[in-house]
Amino acid sequence: MKEDILHNLAIINNRIKNACEKSGRKTDEVKLLLATKTVSADHIKIALKNGQTLIAENKVQELKEKYEDLKNTPHENHFIGHLQTNKIKDILKYDVTCVQSIDRLELAEKLHQRLLAENKTMNVLIQVNTSNEESKFGIDPSEAIELTRKISRLTTLKIKGLMTIGLFSAETEKVRACFKILKTLQEEIIHEHIPNVEMKELSMGMSGDLETAIEEGATIVRVGTAVFGARIYPDSYYWDEDNKKV
Ligand SMILES: *Cc1c(COP(=O)(O)O)cnc(C)c1O
Repeated sequence: MKEDILHNLAIINNRIKNACEKSGRKTDEVKLLLATKTVSADHIKIALKNGQTLIAENKVQELKEKYEDLKNTPHENHFIGHLQTNKIKDILKYDVTCVQSIDRLELAEKLHQRLLAENKTMNVLIQVNTSNEESKFGIDPSEAIELTRKISRLTTLKIKGLMTIGLFSAETEKVRACFKILKTLQEEIIHEHIPNVEMKELSMGMSGDLETAIEEGATIVRVGTAVFGARIYPDSYYWDEDNKKV
């Protein structure tokens, strides 16, 4: 398994490098984030001990389960799943440094209140539903600027950019259209000069579509399967409200 993970990481790093070259970008403009849902702490550690530094979970439960095993191996932890407001406390407890999945004001406000109480701040990305699929979380693109504006007033939250999950499709141009929506929104928000808002990060692109995302301006690609292998749970388990499809 160790050889597989290292081999896969080398392939992914090469894919990132090639995509950067193709679009005239520097390789260090794109960070690799490992999506570690269903992956054991032992396997995650292999990646962390071999040059990787950034991982992310979708479920607070998994964050919690792996926390003790991983805490002595240096890394940074983002959160990329649907976050229920009653789990906010745990996000802070288990040292998440960025919540990439902020998609509603209520969640942002509750997170802000908790951060205020603990005298902390948190980096966040606004998650946008660029594929117009009901099964995916994220704010509608037409409401993203307004949401960004409202969240910018919550002083403990440091908005760093936007996140999206592209359409699942073999048709590259349809996937590309999603990433273009996110890039355009980023430019529009920068143009608004909203105080307390940085728009440097675009978190988009996964195992199957990271090249397209990088061509469209991704600064963080989130990769799971292509490094750790196929998962036994369907992604709907992680993405759908109430996990209806399981
Ligand atoms: C699982 C997941 C990924 C990684 O997907 P792969 O296809 O396994 O690379 C990226 N982003 C989010 C939000 C995820 O849940």
